[in-house]
Amino acid sequence: MQVKIVAERCQGHGMCNMVCPSVFKYDDDGFGYVVPGLEQVPANLADDVSLAEIQCPERAIVIES
Ligand code: SF4
Repeated sequence: MQVKIVAERCQGHGMCNMVCPSVFKYDDDGFGYVVPGLEQVPANLADDVSLAEIQCPERAIVIES
């Protein structure tokens, strides 16, 4: 599983960080980003990343299998 955040869609709601703080952090402006090195999601975090994708109000989280 690969994950990315489409920066143009992200509005900084923060759901992703609440659901999966290991993978999703905030930059200095409050927008989400994927922690470098975790774009290829470890198997033990896949469920949380999938939930974050569902929860993101802007559909900014994109998962590619
Ligand atoms: S939940 Fe979506 S809109 Fe909110 S910070 Fe994360 S990626 Fe951005």
